[in-house]
Amino acid sequence: MRDPSTPVGRSVIVRTSLEPNETESIAAAIGAMLAPGDVVVLTGDLGAGKTTFVRGLARGLGVTIGVKSPSFAIHLRYPGRIALHHLDLYRLSDVRDLAELGLEDVLEQEGVTAVEWGERLGAWLPERALHIRFEDEGGTKRRLHIEGPAVLMERFDAPTEERAS
Ligand code: ADP
Ligand code: MG
Repeated sequence: MRDPSTPVGRSVIVRTSLEPNETESIAAAIGAMLAPGDVVVLTGDLGAGKTTFVRGLARGLGVTIGVKSPSFAIHLRYPGRIALHHLDLYRLSDVRDLAELGLEDVLEQEGVTAVEWGERLGAWLPERALHIRFEDEGGTKRRLHIEGPAVLMERFDAPTEERAS
């Protein structure tokens, strides 16, 4: 049955992660299905697991360099089977600064772009983006709401707990 809160043409998968490694595995499975030009937006509080997720995503993209938190750099690029652009907008004080980052080019590039605090992209947020929203359930338990265009979501046939499309 369609979840009425999910916009038409988009679908949602909810996964539970019980430890950091599990978040990485979920992300690696997603990374393995992504294609150049895909954009992944990560939303959730500090410590929710966004950077942990990007580490797994990198693994799935064939990136062999260790992913660090890009907070101070805002944008880091990792070469891989598919390059990963990792952005963290936590310290972004003004959305207009995104123009200086050359974000338009980044989003259109040959690689996959993962954006922590991606909701801050505002009007820059591409419609085709895959959204990962983290809910801290206490301890090491996290719920990951994975939402995106149905055409993209169909690529992920990993076991699901709940599915609405
Ligand atoms: P964020 O980038 O959202 O601020 P990080 O990924 O940097 O978060 O940090 C998440 C922290 O929470 C890490 O210390 C990690 O070990 C811990 N953690 C505990 N359980 C989980 C889980 N299930 N998934 C991801 N991180 C977890
Ligand atoms: Mg982070």
